[in-house]
Amino acid sequence: MPQVAVFHGPNQAFELASYPLPEPQGREVLVKVACCTLCRGDLHTHAGRRKEPAPSVLGHEIVGRIEAFGSNTAYVDYRGLPLHVGDRITWSVTASCGKCLLCEDRIPQKCSAVFKYGHQQHDPQMPFSGGLAEYVLLKPGTSIVRIADSVPDSLAALANCATATAASVLREIGIISHRSLMIFGAGVLGLTATAMARTMGVKRVIVCEPDAQRREQALAFGATEVFAPDDYPKGTVDVALELAGTKESVEAAFAAPRVGGTVMLAGTLQPTPGVLFDPEGAVRRMLTMHGVHNYTPIDLAEAVAFLEIHAKPFPFADLIGPSFRLEEVDAAFAYGHAHPGQHVAIVPLSEPRP
Ligand SMILES: [Zn+2]
Ligand SMILES: [Zn+2]
Repeated sequence: MPQVAVFHGPNQAFELASYPLPEPQGREVLVKVACCTLCRGDLHTHAGRRKEPAPSVLGHEIVGRIEAFGSNTAYVDYRGLPLHVGDRITWSVTASCGKCLLCEDRIPQKCSAVFKYGHQQHDPQMPFSGGLAEYVLLKPGTSIVRIADSVPDSLAALANCATATAASVLREIGIISHRSLMIFGAGVLGLTATAMARTMGVKRVIVCEPDAQRREQALAFGATEVFAPDDYPKGTVDVALELAGTKESVEAAFAAPRVGGTVMLAGTLQPTPGVLFDPEGAVRRMLTMHGVHNYTPIDLAEAVAFLEIHAKPFPFADLIGPSFRLEEVDAAFAYGHAHPGQHVAIVPLSEPRP
């Protein structure tokens, strides 16, 4: 019987549990996991820095192959490409109803009936809900995107988290090529947003990052200028993108935009101490603040297209850590905690290591 790694709470060993392989019903699709990478969010949950349901099956950065369709599925993906058993796919981290106020408001990731892969309370009746497993059962309302073979598994796994979130943030900016950006944080999300902005024609992408090695990395991902947090230019750029999620970084981001500029916050995914906020400055500088969490299906399609067409010149392979088997999941988390900025890959035993 296929296995899932059950998370029982912060700093507890994972339990490998076996469940019968489900038969997909209706619009469900059964996927065999090829690779699941550990995200900063998974590490926060594992360390107890943020509260998520437990027990649960973690892992949402997943790529897999279609194993079986329910009787009522559309055999096409979000881009209109045909789907077959054996096709390699990624899918939206959220499944949404498509009918509620929030879905109609075009933020389906906030659907009132949302289902979130890798974030659900473990249900032995529906155990294949996260990527740290041999299979995942996709719910109706999940957006599926087929991935070209040219994108390796460990990179394709990033599509439905960091890459799609970067696409979402950049889409929210609007017509982007005329704007100058300052990105705070050169982790996987910041580096992805840097590369993506450059391929969208943004001429000036400044990256602000405390770690010297990551500043170097940002240049390799297309940053036009890099700064340490104590000497970045203030009041100059059109848009500040906060993608690091620390108190200091959020405070710094508010000082970056010009008059009439925008601060976008997308990096804070765990409880953080309150920041010093200067309301008078925000009024006089006519700042716009915009929070962005996750993404919509169109951003996932954009993310996959970016990985298929534009990712080659950038050293994305440097962001992927070593791979571990499902039964080595405890060691994989230990490695992930010790090497922030690398996404560790979990590959079920039945799959070849990348
Ligand atoms: Zn993630
Ligand atoms: Zn909804």
